[in-house]
This record gives sequence, structure tokens and C-alpha cells, in this order.
Amino acid sequence: MISDASAVLTASPVLDVRDLTIAFRHRAGPVQVVRGVDLSVGHGEIVGLVGESGSGKSIFARAILGTLPRQAEVLEGKIAFSGSDLRRVPPSEVRQLRGDRMALVPQEPMTSLNPALRIGRQLTEVLEVHRPEIGSAARTARAIEMLDLVGVNLPGERLAQYPHQLSGGLRQRVAIAMALICGRVELLIADEPTTALDVTIQAQILDLFVRLQEQQRMSVLLITHDLGVIAQTAQRVAVMYAGELVEVAGVNELFAMPHHPYTRGLLDSLPRGGNAARKSHLPSIEGTVPSPAAPRQGCAFADRCAFRVDICGRRAPMLEATTSGRSVRCHRWQELADRFACRDAVT
Ligand code: SF4
Repeated sequence: MISDASAVLTASPVLDVRDLTIAFRHRAGPVQVVRGVDLSVGHGEIVGLVGESGSGKSIFARAILGTLPRQAEVLEGKIAFSGSDLRRVPPSEVRQLRGDRMALVPQEPMTSLNPALRIGRQLTEVLEVHRPEIGSAARTARAIEMLDLVGVNLPGERLAQYPHQLSGGLRQRVAIAMALICGRVELLIADEPTTALDVTIQAQILDLFVRLQEQQRMSVLLITHDLGVIAQTAQRVAVMYAGELVEVAGVNELFAMPHHPYTRGLLDSLPRGGNAARKSHLPSIEGTVPSPAAPRQGCAFADRCAFRVDICGRRAPMLEATTSGRSVRCHRWQELADRFACRDAVT
């Protein structure tokens, strides 16, 4: 687990999202899928964004990258990237930023790789678009250099191969090489980058992220449903539930003392002591994330929360700043935090 979140937080952020609300257009009116989210990523920082599927984290990432589906729109808020408000930047400039200074590593590498094109062609094509001043031989040399950097063996020979000739782990390494090949990426957004991989390859890819982040001094927003992935990589974590942040903290602080019942539930569902066999007996959080279209009163987590009290169903909790940069959205966090600190004491 990586520490020293506070040192990174003093730097001005590469990404600074304020009060972001995103909605899908619907006949009955806009359906909000992300509500009032504030999140920053500092220079050289890895921030984890964690939550179940349906929590809004991927649509949040797409809003940053300017790739929202046509039926979705940002209703309000600010997305500042290196000081520029991306909502005021023309779409053509956002497209230029994407793949150059901001890049995405998707869950399934085949969504960024073209199955019909050789690996070398795909890598050099990114340079043709974003670095046209680089000549053909230098583009090929850069492609080989990047494949080597991300741990692809026989990089020169891989250029002639097609994606289907590579394993899932190698394809993800190629997707990472493609994301970083321009050499100017300040913000890398990785959306469930290891979910489709087996456990051993997952660990290797996460190590690669940490190494690349350190080498390239870039910032990373790592989106995942798995707090275990966050523990291995991130310095700070934001927990998202039903389109809202419910807890934000340094990774060490969050693991030592979660304040929100949902975070506690996510931690309880992690295997302990490296015993993967125990995974099938781990507690899970009963129920599902509520539909964003359903009318909501009170706390969004109330239907699944073992700690709910009367007020939880009547009044929605605000995201409240606690100590040392932490924040939490729960009426009862002060009384629950101590109980959550000792896993075995929680009943
Ligand atoms: S506000 Fe109430 S229902 Fe919501 S998480 Fe806290 S205790 Fe549970």
C-alpha cells in the first residue's frame, strides 16, 4: 500500500472536477447519473475511483475525456484539466488533447485495438495523428521502444502481429503502450484495466501502472470496482455510490478506518491473508445500486445499510469534510468510524 498522500495533495491538480452533474436525456426528463461530484488528481498522483457497476464512475470518466454517449450531457459543473475548463474548450481541441495529453486505458483492450490492423500500424497511427512531425522510421522506433517499456517481449516482432495473436495480458500492455506513445500524457484514465485478466496478470499490470506513473511523472485516475486494486496502486481513493461520492480519503486511512457503511461493506468483501479460497465465503453487500430514475428521498444507501436510522430515510446526508482531507456522506459517521476501525468489532 502506498502512503504519503498529503505530500502529493499540496501540488496543484492536473484534473480538478467541481460539482459535476451528468444526466441521460429521457422522455420524462433528465435522469441524473452523476450528481455534484468534486474530485481532483494531483501531479504525479494515482487516485482510485471505486464503486459497483452502475455507480456512475465510467460515465464520469467519459465526461472528462469528452466521450459521453449522445444521449448523455453534463448539466452543470466544471472539468479543469491543467488549468483549462474543458467544458469551454472546442470539441476539436478536446479531441486533440485526448490521446496526446490525456489518455484512456479501457477494461477490454480490444475496444481500443483494431482487430484488423497489425500492432505496429496501430501504434504508429497514433503518432501520425498527434505527432506528425515525427518521420516514419522514428515512429517505428518509438513503437518498439514503447512495447519494450511496457514489458512486451520481442517488441520488434510484435509489430507485424494482429491483436488476436496476443494473450489478454499482452493486449492490455499494447493498449497501455498506445495510450502513452505520444510521450506527453499528463493524465491517464484507466477504466477497470485489469478486470478482464487473471489474477497473476492483474498484479503484473498494476505493477506496470505504478512503475510507469513514477517514470513518466503522470497522474492516474484508476477506476475499479475492487478496493484490492486500489490498495496496490493508489494514494487516495474516492468511493462512489449511486452517482455520488460517499467517502474520499488517503488509501491507508481508508483501509485503517473507513467512515461510511458502504466502504466498510466493500472492505469486508475483500479476501484476507492472501487466501483466495475464502473468497466464496466472503460477505457481500445485500441488494443493488438503486436506479437513477427512481425517486429518491434520504440516503441513497439506506435500503442496503445495516446502520440506518429514522433520519436516513427522510434526509439526504451531505458530503462532510472530516479531518486531514477526508470527507464522508453519512449521518452517523462519527459514531460508526470507531466501530469500523476494528473489523471484528463490527456487528
Ligand atoms: S446515512 Fe444512514 S443509511 Fe446512509 S449510510 Fe449513513 S447510516 Fe447508513
